[in-house]
Amino acid sequence: APLSLDSSILIVGAGTWGISTALHLKRRGYKNVTLLDPFPVPSPISAGNDVNKILELGTFAAGADTDERYVANTLINEATKGWLEDPVFKPYFHETGCIIAATSEAGRAHMNAASGPSEDAGWLPLKTKEDFQATMPKGVLTGDFPGWEGWWMKKGSGWIHARKSMESAAREAERLGAVFVTGEEKGKVESLIYEAGDVKGAKTFDAVEHRADRTILCAGANAGIIFDMKDQLRPTAWTLAHIKMTREELQLFKNLPVLFNIERGFFMEPDEDKGELKMCDEHPGYCNWTVDPQNSQRSSVPFAKHQIPKEAEERARGFLREIMPHLAERPFSFARICWCADTPNRAFLISKHPDYPSLVLGCGASGHGFCHIPVIGGFITDAMEDKLDPRIKHSFRWRPETAVNRKWDDLQDRFGPEESNRMMNFGDIKEWTTIQPEIAEAK
Ligand code: FAD
Repeated sequence: APLSLDSSILIVGAGTWGISTALHLKRRGYKNVTLLDPFPVPSPISAGNDVNKILELGTFAAGADTDERYVANTLINEATKGWLEDPVFKPYFHETGCIIAATSEAGRAHMNAASGPSEDAGWLPLKTKEDFQATMPKGVLTGDFPGWEGWWMKKGSGWIHARKSMESAAREAERLGAVFVTGEEKGKVESLIYEAGDVKGAKTFDAVEHRADRTILCAGANAGIIFDMKDQLRPTAWTLAHIKMTREELQLFKNLPVLFNIERGFFMEPDEDKGELKMCDEHPGYCNWTVDPQNSQRSSVPFAKHQIPKEAEERARGFLREIMPHLAERPFSFARICWCADTPNRAFLISKHPDYPSLVLGCGASGHGFCHIPVIGGFITDAMEDKLDPRIKHSFRWRPETAVNRKWDDLQDRFGPEESNRMMNFGDIKEWTTIQPEIAEAK
């Protein structure tokens, strides 16, 4: 049936992009919007269920004037407007500025590529340990910053409270009438419903068929389990850890710029509720490889775990030793692996499916999809309504031809410390942290 405001729209996955899509659909007046998710918002397996994320430090597409760069710039400009103006998101953006840094020669070359930071673009160069230490109040950055070089931008970027902004968007979508169906059987999609060469909704694990005029797949790293993505998504995980801060430290660590070394890791100021400082060790990512015995095809299969590999703990502590050695040995209060899905060029995959006219894909967030939450659902709705700007439509298209013989171990433009500057496999990990989890491990 032709699309109208009375059409029923089913969103599979109420994570970062699914919630944003529900919000935009409701704001455009769609009357019948349902979301399915195994968990109530915030899902413990959503990549967005996190205390903070960086509001982009730049775009990720290589080259000067590619469509990808045009698209990335358009997206980030729109998203920034959302963070500055939309009452649903505005309270959660902290414009504290950011520091970007690198250590190795290759890392510096990557950081300083043509589209990277420069004095002309308003960045201040950081060359010495004293330069780095002076970016934050005395007593925060006590480290020696061995080999570090970087740049500091005081405005125009910063961090966002990820979980709170996701919850805020979900509350608003619900207030406008979106229906959330959650539960490990009731909300977990087992398969799409295929009929007459089209997709007519989704079936959940309680055997209920949720029929709909349009189905939008926003299941993040798990999208490929529900629908054959033809190798366009590579589920890839990163690692994050928290440490508890003292009351005095919390006073001192306020309004800090984001500090991001593209080879070592990043941190933002501590979480205001639990008083924990989150950090991520930087690396190109982990996959969880399985090989299909029938055809020897490799695929990376996401799984939930509220622990991280010991080697990731070591990297995180190594990062702290370089910048804040006084915190480097403090026990972790929380850690988890966090899955996203990379397309081959890390441009998003937001498109109607060429063979199933009622199926819309909102996938491939490629590790930089959170900061777009204020607007990404508008683009996903535009794709459903056939209204995307042609250059954006081309970049976001269904493009299995770009994933033929995919180089699964490609670094995809990321860096890590020398010894882990490669794609890693959870299958090789022998030792994990043993933190008493605060959240029961999600199945
Ligand atoms: P998700 O938010 O993961 O949502 C997927 C949803 O699908 C979940 O709610 C899940 O419960 C649900 N689901 C799963 N299986 C099913 C099923 N069978 N049926 C129904 N629902 C299902 N981005 C930034 O912009 N800035 C950053 O600084 C940044 N830092 C990051 C740090 C880490 C450690 C990680 C892992 C990612 C980071 N990202 C960042 C990337 C960003 O978090 C993701 O790109 C974005 O959150 C992905 O959104 P999504 O909606 O595609 O997936």
